Amino acid sequence: MYAAVRCPRCGRIILTKVIHKTRSCPHCGYRARIGELRFLGRAETPEQAVALIRMLKEREMRGEGRRTD
Ligand SMILES: [Zn+2]
Repeated sequence: MYAAVRCPRCGRIILTKVIHKTRSCPHCGYRARIGELRFLGRAETPEQAVALIRMLKEREMRGEGRRTD
């Protein structure tokens, strides 16, 4: 299974396989611990994962789901 998570350092959305313990952010290089991150969404297949990421990024561009803190 795949999951979309937000990088704790740079705030970008990254995609990871759930079986992985950690995931390096491709944007800032931060090694995030998957178990400590909130899943923004899940997907079973790579195709679903790509669609999920696209949906989340489009939503973010519209200003939804962005934290103000
Ligand atoms: Zn990052």
